[in-house]
Amino acid sequence: MKVIDHLRNAKGTLFSFEILPPLKGRDIRSIYEGIDPLMEFGPSFINVTYHREEVLYKERGHGLLQKIRLRKRPGTIGICATIKAKYEVDTVPHLICGGFSREETEDALIELNFLGIDNVLALRGDAIKNEPHFIPERDGHPHAVDLIHQISGLNHGKYLHDEEQEAAPTDLCIGAACYPEKHPEALNLSVDIAYLKEKVDAGAEYLVTQMFFDNARYFSFVDRCREQGINVPIIPGLKPITTLRHIAFLPKTFRVDLPDELAKKLMGCRTDAEVKRTGIAWTIEQAQELKEKGAPCLHFYTMGRSEAVKEVAKEIF
Ligand SMILES: Cc1cc2nc3c(=O)[nH]c(=O)nc-3n(C[C@H](O)[C@H](O)[C@H](O)COP(=O)(O)OP(=O)(O)OC[C@H]3O[C@@H](n4cnc5c(N)ncnc54)[C@H](O)[C@@H]3O)c2cc1C
Repeated sequence: MKVIDHLRNAKGTLFSFEILPPLKGRDIRSIYEGIDPLMEFGPSFINVTYHREEVLYKERGHGLLQKIRLRKRPGTIGICATIKAKYEVDTVPHLICGGFSREETEDALIELNFLGIDNVLALRGDAIKNEPHFIPERDGHPHAVDLIHQISGLNHGKYLHDEEQEAAPTDLCIGAACYPEKHPEALNLSVDIAYLKEKVDAGAEYLVTQMFFDNARYFSFVDRCREQGINVPIIPGLKPITTLRHIAFLPKTFRVDLPDELAKKLMGCRTDAEVKRTGIAWTIEQAQELKEKGAPCLHFYTMGRSEAVKEVAKEIF
């Protein structure tokens, strides 16, 4: 079933979460350990991230370096199909522009369609490490909006290079990303929202936010989107902070601010256990308020670990 239909049929705030494919070489069963504890809360859908290949240089002796392209977490589409069959839950594969030509994108979409997967989250992806900015493939998409146009086109039976008059249309529900604290590359939030509107006009039926720790940012972002004519559901993305490492890593990596009250509490923590207690309590408060104020769904970033999300879900669902 499509995410948009889950949202339309919902009687209250839905629950969903995001997982990562296992590291290359690890068994698929390693991700079940992260999913199993969350199934009792009845997720409406599970997202699976897509990971672009990285470029590495390996010493080969005699001063020679070999350039290697390595995808550390392959298997997004296969995992989505397996989870859908095993847990009978809808899955949302992420698809990125980075590293894909338009032909490869089309192949991936055809595969999703044949597997009976009804959803896709359309993203640009980040620049490869060591590249100063995002560089699309020669025949790839520079922005998520271009990918959304391609998926929308396929939903209308428009295949690449195809003169076929009666090509079978796909029927994929398209989601896209948004950033209550603006995307790091955007000149400002107004510009970012203007581009966001283009993604919705191109066919994105709902949006999922970057993680945020201050609900006020989410509410004011939703208001600004509505003022600009973005009327699709905007799903808040939540992440409990659980380790001392997170405190430094999350704001820097995702360019998000911690509100003063949370920052003060975390600065008083000396151990991971203290951080975890504080982070979970904070996310519970966030989730309660978002639910009370009618958020369509609460989407949790598990980053491969589900205990903290389970603690939050126990209080909310
Ligand atoms: C919910 C969510 C899930 C994610 N999952 C993944 C994942 O699985 N794999 C992964 O690699 N990354 C993932 N990301 C990260 C995402 O790929 C990066 O944040 C990336 O830098 C931007 O992706 P986007 O789809 O928002 O890009 P875009 O919508 O293309 O926006 C990127 C930047 O370009 C600007 N822009 C947009 N359209 C135009 C235009 N037409 N012309 C000029 N400028 C424009 C925007 O303002 C923004 O600054 C995820 C992010 C979120 C919020």
